[in-house]
Amino acid sequence: MSENIPIQEIDPYIIRAQEAFLRFKKLTLKERAAFMYLVADEIESLGTELIDAAQSETSLGEGRLTGEKARTVNQWRIYADALLNSNVLPVQIDTAIPGRTPPRPDIRKTYTGLGVVVVFGASNFPFAFSTAGGDTASAIAAGCSVIFKSHSGHPKTSAIMASAIGRAAAKAGLPNGIFAAIATDGATGGQYLVKHPLVKAVGFTGSLYGGRALFDLASQRPDPIPVFAEMGSVNPVFLLPGRLAASAEEVATQYAGSLTLGVGQFCTNPGIFVAPNTSDLPRFLDTLAAQISQIAPSRMLHPGIAASYHKNKADLLGQAGVDVLVAVNEDSPETHGNATVATVSAQRFLANPKLGEEVFGPFGLVVTYESPSEALAIANQLEGQLTTTVLAEPSELGQHTELVAALTEKCGRLLLNGFPTGVEVCGAMQHGGPYPASTDSRFTSVGPDAIKRFARPISYQNWPDEMLPDELKNANPLGIWRTVNGELNKGELPGAV
Ligand code: NAP
Repeated sequence: MSENIPIQEIDPYIIRAQEAFLRFKKLTLKERAAFMYLVADEIESLGTELIDAAQSETSLGEGRLTGEKARTVNQWRIYADALLNSNVLPVQIDTAIPGRTPPRPDIRKTYTGLGVVVVFGASNFPFAFSTAGGDTASAIAAGCSVIFKSHSGHPKTSAIMASAIGRAAAKAGLPNGIFAAIATDGATGGQYLVKHPLVKAVGFTGSLYGGRALFDLASQRPDPIPVFAEMGSVNPVFLLPGRLAASAEEVATQYAGSLTLGVGQFCTNPGIFVAPNTSDLPRFLDTLAAQISQIAPSRMLHPGIAASYHKNKADLLGQAGVDVLVAVNEDSPETHGNATVATVSAQRFLANPKLGEEVFGPFGLVVTYESPSEALAIANQLEGQLTTTVLAEPSELGQHTELVAALTEKCGRLLLNGFPTGVEVCGAMQHGGPYPASTDSRFTSVGPDAIKRFARPISYQNWPDEMLPDELKNANPLGIWRTVNGELNKGELPGAV
């Protein structure tokens, strides 16, 4: 473990970050993207040192970490591409109409970074949702400088990633304050960062407890700042009777795989499975129990996560009406997550909000319903989720439109006949949902649209061409798509030089 720095040593980092932001904002979009491509290259060239550190700090396997590294590199490149395509921070130009009554001025809108952004990452994605992960990449893409609060679960991994960004900054001729990773305790140094007047936004991935604490703190500042927190979720899956009858065994096998992937340590882990109590249900439950019982317990991310898993699971199993269906090796080490599935009736579930809480790890609760109206009542009672899923035969979907409509109210991503683990990084992805899945359901933390969280619009009215940012100039020197007088084009405007 690296030493935590004391609070009184944090200010110089923030001041350097503010100075770097003021320089960074003068760069063109092209120069900003060039820096991001350099970061991608630097991370890509990191070798076994990175994977070894992450493996020893998180217990995640080499294959998983290698894939996550590639995804992280890809994020920097995709977000840089998006800047140049102008499809996330769209430029709008409405040229002057002097002869109109009243005359219309020349107005041109672009985006500018919010300022210094503080990022908190999660323990379960030491690359993609941590130091050089999506929040950092999107804040830099928006034109911000970033201070990352290193995660106590993987400090060495964090330091290696931070040095890669530092090398890219040096190559791009940027001040090193553009990015810093600070090893400090969340409850002290982390909160100090969020309260600092020079900090203008926060990106957070992690627990509901942590995200909410930081959100409240930021709202209480004399000048409240946004906290974009992506938090826990139970990602409910709704199985319809026709699909159960047609594919009970197949669905059970797929569910067991998704529930236990990565020892259940995914924010999109499907912790609640809502199934009809028909004569086909035993086939589903028997296969699920058989599949789960074959999954050997594995070491969880760190002892704290494992301790929470065992405690939260025990609390849930102690609730009235909850019966264990299968629990693998209950005598496995405390550091390991042993897969467990329990069942409960819809009636009990609806009467006890505790049963809808996240148990982070390989734990599933099968909620059995007696009628479509009970399934609908469960959907209506759900809290906000990252994802919800419907498993159905095509012919029965039309009879459950109310259920589908209720689920769209509750989530950011609605899946049909699939499982939610696995989040594609692409333009159409929505990773965020109504509270408590995230603090602002209008935004995503995955995909280029994540950049929007850290940029604010600014309109320039009646400014001479040479004083405008490149993306607003008549000649369109960046060659980007712009909406000019209501029409999207890549062309020049009259008066281009
Ligand atoms: P965590 O315990 O909330 O920690 C995340 C970060 O926040 C750490 O740096 C931690 O610092 C800091 N922190 C936590 N509580 C804080 C507080 N009260 N004040 C200031 N800082 C605080 O989360 P985790 O255990 O690493 O990650 C697992 C959780 O993340 C699960 O619930 C999972 O579902 C969720 N998750 C969500 C997503 C998503 O995209 N929605 C993705 C991955 C994971 P310290 O380490 O110093 O405490």
